[in-house]
Amino acid sequence: MSRAFNRLERVLDLEVQQGYQNKAVVGGIRQFALFWVEQAREEAADEADRAFVEQTAELLVDYGGLSGTEARKKALDSLAERLRKRKTRVVEQAPSAPKTQQKAPVSPPPAVRPQPQPKPQPQPKAQPESELDEEYEDDYPRDEEEFPEKRPFLPAADPDPKGLSQSVESIKGVGPKIAEKLLKLGAETIWELLYVFPRRYDDYSLMKPIKDLQYGEQVTIVGTIWETRARQVRGSQTLVQSIINDGSGSVQASWFNQPWLAEKLKAGLQIVISGKVDHYLGRLVFNSPEWEPLALDPLKTRRIVPVYPLTLGLNSTKMRDILRQVVAQWAPRVPEILPEPVRSRRDLYPLPLAVDQTHFPQSQKSLHEARRRLVFDELFLLQLGMQGFRREWQTQTGVALTEETAVLDDFRASLPYSLTGAQERVIGEITDSLSRSVPMNRLLQGDVGSGKTVVAAAAMIVAAKAGGQAALMAPTEILAEQHFRGLNSLLAPLGIHTILLTGSTPAAEREQIYAGLADGSIHIAIGTHALIQDNVYFHKLVLTVIDEQHRFGVDQRQALRNKGAHINGAEATASPHVLVMSATPIPRTLALSLYGDLELSLLDEMPPGRQEIKTRWLRTSERERAYAFARRQVEAGRQAYIIYPLVEESDKIDAKAAVEEYERLQTKVFPDLKLGLIHGRLRSDEKEAAMRAFYQGETHILVATSVIEVGVDVPNSTVMIIEGANRFGLAQLHQFRGRVGRGEHQSYCMLIADNESADAEERLNALEKTNDGFALAEKDLEIRGPGEFFGRRQSGIPELQLASLLDMELLTIAREEAELMIQDDPELEKPEHQFIRDRVRKFWEKAGDVS
Ligand code: ADP
Ligand code: MG
Repeated sequence: MSRAFNRLERVLDLEVQQGYQNKAVVGGIRQFALFWVEQAREEAADEADRAFVEQTAELLVDYGGLSGTEARKKALDSLAERLRKRKTRVVEQAPSAPKTQQKAPVSPPPAVRPQPQPKPQPQPKAQPESELDEEYEDDYPRDEEEFPEKRPFLPAADPDPKGLSQSVESIKGVGPKIAEKLLKLGAETIWELLYVFPRRYDDYSLMKPIKDLQYGEQVTIVGTIWETRARQVRGSQTLVQSIINDGSGSVQASWFNQPWLAEKLKAGLQIVISGKVDHYLGRLVFNSPEWEPLALDPLKTRRIVPVYPLTLGLNSTKMRDILRQVVAQWAPRVPEILPEPVRSRRDLYPLPLAVDQTHFPQSQKSLHEARRRLVFDELFLLQLGMQGFRREWQTQTGVALTEETAVLDDFRASLPYSLTGAQERVIGEITDSLSRSVPMNRLLQGDVGSGKTVVAAAAMIVAAKAGGQAALMAPTEILAEQHFRGLNSLLAPLGIHTILLTGSTPAAEREQIYAGLADGSIHIAIGTHALIQDNVYFHKLVLTVIDEQHRFGVDQRQALRNKGAHINGAEATASPHVLVMSATPIPRTLALSLYGDLELSLLDEMPPGRQEIKTRWLRTSERERAYAFARRQVEAGRQAYIIYPLVEESDKIDAKAAVEEYERLQTKVFPDLKLGLIHGRLRSDEKEAAMRAFYQGETHILVATSVIEVGVDVPNSTVMIIEGANRFGLAQLHQFRGRVGRGEHQSYCMLIADNESADAEERLNALEKTNDGFALAEKDLEIRGPGEFFGRRQSGIPELQLASLLDMELLTIAREEAELMIQDDPELEKPEHQFIRDRVRKFWEKAGDVS
């Protein structure tokens, strides 16, 4: 090692001489570390050397990031001290420890030697409740966040032939304290506890020796902790690092900002680590892997071991003990909900077996089958519900609106452009539905800027001309006002009386509107939630349109539909047609399963002449260039947006606040231009004024927060600058970007991130690459997974515990089976469908009041 020591020493000396400027080596100490570590590793003769090399390399890498001479001096002093100690030891040992063929002792140096001496094999413990278990009756702060109170879908409380609905307290060894903890996991009864599934499994037969680990793979290892260190990095963050050895080799695992781990991960502890193998400085490591103390029985039995969600003070070992008992005793009594023919046709495990095997699988194969059955159940319940809604919907009567072609011809003629093929097609689909006496229930999907509004207008004209009323509800006042402005100018010449109703409509005007809606003299109402207030009555509401439907809850959509229930104050016999619109595109296969109760229309063509919005991800240092660019565009007569993530500077997130930035931009950057400001805390008349000024071109640049996100349409604007772009989701960024490129001019979007996480990087890159909303939706789905992609509120469907909506094979067979069952027994009244009926009801209760 002496050569490596000497090289290191020289560099350290030089750095001290130069006053800690990180310049002793071209490219900085970090650069030096990268090649030093290579050579030093080659020279290292034993584990002790290797440990020294790795740790030293890390300190070197960190060095450049330290700010201030003080901190750097301290770091170098301690490095020099380490080096000195190390050299002394080597010299002392040198005569008795020749490097030649003698096998290096498999033990760490004294400095890092753990107490007690690690054993390659786990030691059987005398007590089943080991001390470790006590120690790990833990209270990781993260647990509560990771596993928020969440209830799995409830099996019926009644009927309960076998006593499955007993409280968990009836289980041996479960008292009120543990019961409380189980409740956090969603289990109040034994039945519910059976549905608290493992979040993963450790398959001890598949475990890998450390020496065989490969970069990028997801693995589980078992080993002994040799050493754990905690240190401060990047200011206030704590990095805890452990070296784990399994007899075949060592590997390092690191955890960020979990300082308490330093206490838990004591040297000598035998643990199981699961995670993705990463690399750092050219060697394999684990970053923030999952871990738990080694439980003993799995190694004895070599089984696949379930790992349960943790909750405060209830560790996985304890959960396992409880569930082993419960599953053995109760799983066989879980009533089967699927008819035998379905199970055999689809080759599905019986439910009791599936429950048993998902907790304590005999093999990977039976685990797979058990999961398959349980996933099927979820998707089946989902589909049964959808089909039920669809059926229910279709048994209602709608008002057949046949007044069609002539009316729309006038409308087409009055438009300043001709409709796209897609718009014509969708208008055809809609008018076709409207002409039937079954109420339409349709989802119109179209990317930002695809021209959904004019399609909605066509549908509303048909409704109005047929003697009915239509209502269009938008999620924000800005959007409602904009729709009103745009549509009123198109509709008024056709003799259609349109009004705007929002929270800020003055009281006197509001009274008039109420009266006009109730007596039918108003044909079309455009507005916000104000439309669904209790005191709003329609004379004859035959069509409801909901824009940006994902912004509304199921109950709000329902409330608007219910406005059709009154005609002249009397109970209506007919339901209105419903058109919901969404700019959050969903891959078609998914749409089918999510909106199985809706008909789909797709605007898959952009109006002609749209150019790609040129999108560029800029460094923060290029911000001035973005400003200069915006200025040139304004000078050429265009307008620009600058978006900020938050309204006011907050201590928590130091995002650039729109208010402060607005002032800075107006006074320092663009003193000669007129800037507008709009954010969520303004009164609505202030928002309105700011929007109007921008529409009319009085302001050149609009500084805004995310209130601007949906639907705003100012075709003259060509520049969109998004600050803190990393803080927004992909769909939202795409929406922002869609605010420009709405007119004839080439438009630009500039993304400025204040931090570069891997996730954000993926999003921003995707955005740079494509303008296609559908492609971005698929990407988003891939990054976030369907669970997050569709909030429950967005989709109105129940939360799925195991199933993925991307599981097309099971989704398809679940849909087919659901169709068959509903055909055979529409109300699920047959005695053999009792259990399933009950389950469907419970399952859908979680999604809110849908039916
Ligand atoms: P979105 O689908 O995002 O709601 P809008 O309905 O707001 O889109 O339409 C975006 C812009 O495109 C509007 O300015 C609208 O007037 C314009 N537009 C709509 N249809 C056409 C068309 N066929 N040709 C040209 N411009 C159109
Ligand atoms: Mg729109």
